[in-house]
Amino acid sequence: MSKIIHYRNKCIGCGLCFELQPALWRMSKKDGKATLLQAVEKKGIYILEINRYDMALSMETAKICPVKIIKIP
Ligand code: SF4
Repeated sequence: MSKIIHYRNKCIGCGLCFELQPALWRMSKKDGKATLLQAVEKKGIYILEINRYDMALSMETAKICPVKIIKIP
């Protein structure tokens, strides 16, 4: 198991993560930011455990984010 970390406060709502990986992301109608589905929130930072099947695409998603707020440690 690995994880995705999303620094949601800094999201600019470009929608690229959702376009690339709609299974894990949604765009919020409330504030226009991306939401990492099923993630656990800790002090404004969202963390989701992912399996190895989601890993390759998640790496691409992290790379494509223009403000680099999707991290895979
Ligand atoms: S790619 Fe990054 S900035 Fe764009 S919506 Fe997703 S998290 Fe936000």
